[in-house]
Amino acid sequence: MFEKILIANRGEIALRVIRACAEMGIKSVAVHSTADADAMHVRLADESVCIGPPSSTQSYLSFPAIISACEITGADAIHPGYGFLSENAAFVQIVEDHDLTFIGPTAEHIRIMGDKITAKETMKNLGVPVVPGSDGGVPDYESAQKVAEDIGYPVIIKATAGGGGRGMKLANGPDELETAFRTARSEGKAAFGNDEVYIEKYLGKPRHIEIQVFGDGKGTAVHLGERDCSLQRRHQKVFEEAPGPAIDAETRARIGRVCADAVSRINYIGAGTIEFLYEDGEFYFIEMNTRLQVEHPVTEGIFGVDLVREQIRVAQGLPLSFTQDDLSVNGHAIEVRINAEKLPNFTPSPGTVGMYHAPGGLGVRMDSALYGGYSIPPYYDSLIGKLIVHGRDRPEALSRLDRALSEIVIEGIDTTLPLFDALLQEPDILSGNYDIHWLEKWLAAHG
Ligand code: ADP
Repeated sequence: MFEKILIANRGEIALRVIRACAEMGIKSVAVHSTADADAMHVRLADESVCIGPPSSTQSYLSFPAIISACEITGADAIHPGYGFLSENAAFVQIVEDHDLTFIGPTAEHIRIMGDKITAKETMKNLGVPVVPGSDGGVPDYESAQKVAEDIGYPVIIKATAGGGGRGMKLANGPDELETAFRTARSEGKAAFGNDEVYIEKYLGKPRHIEIQVFGDGKGTAVHLGERDCSLQRRHQKVFEEAPGPAIDAETRARIGRVCADAVSRINYIGAGTIEFLYEDGEFYFIEMNTRLQVEHPVTEGIFGVDLVREQIRVAQGLPLSFTQDDLSVNGHAIEVRINAEKLPNFTPSPGTVGMYHAPGGLGVRMDSALYGGYSIPPYYDSLIGKLIVHGRDRPEALSRLDRALSEIVIEGIDTTLPLFDALLQEPDILSGNYDIHWLEKWLAAHG
């Protein structure tokens, strides 16, 4: 059994893992850059190690720095959180070569799902419905024209190695194809060092529905329903909820089963998310994330499980602590992402926090590494907190969100909190009637 886990991350997700460790009687080790010496994860962990200068490449992304920190502290395992090294197959390999355990999937599964073409092919072969598109990579513009004619416009050109919404270009008709094709390629090359692209039918008004799966690595896997993450800005999620307002119990059971079967057949281990676009009652696979996601707390809210604890358990070879039959949806949960950004343009707003007061009360969870007087460093992403509410049903969760928002105080910096107050005034949000374009359109009209 693990005695000590090193958390190769920072911010709220590092706290999330430290808390799970503490409850399981496992010691935690925080790593931090020099810019994070005063960060909350350093204070809450049992031990901490400085692993380098502010730049992520020299600290949170540095294999040797993190492996050395494990060796110095005698940690048995590494939890990567999300982002940073969480989906880096080469890192997983190095961790294993040092006789340490990576708390997450195998290097092979990370590699397969990290390449969008192989991921799509694998999922298709496992019986998961995918978006119509090219069979694999599209080598040149002439082939692109052919594929686009076959599947019909509009089409989207996507970089195989893309992520975070980068390397994706829309072509509404033949006249837009060449530019879209070339830009997606060069963005893929610049951002991910890989210019391979593929083509998909562009869906006009889908919802983003993702299924949480969990495997024990030995062929047993379950699903924990869906999250609706359609409210996005520049392909980044800002508001997530579970269950999805557009998904009924029968649909959940059907697609959930397809996903659980698929991951059980590949002996998947740990937490994973299978992302779909959902339009006119049909699911279309877009990608699989082989890690814990930012929005996992909404799933924890409605199923009453601790996903990080479960990750740590299966990494030690223990069985899942629940079966599919044990899992039932209870109520409704919503998460909003609080970023240190100035509206209306979402410009990063790092700086020193004055007063900080977290909301509380029944059904309210605030996952944040903020504290009064904390200086938010400018080097990392701008997520500073996640407010998660749970209620017996969607209306109760919405009013609880409204109430919790009214309690939060974050002084000294600009945040995205006012966006959520405004969204809660919108009839479409209150009725759950939105697709993946809703927020962009709303922002354009209310900017
Ligand atoms: P990334 O890895 O960059 O997040 P995804 O493939 O997950 O890329 O797509 C991100 C978002 O882009 C989706 O949530 C959706 O909003 C949009 N998108 C992706 N594929 C399509 C498609 N075929 N049609 C319409 N929108 C799409």
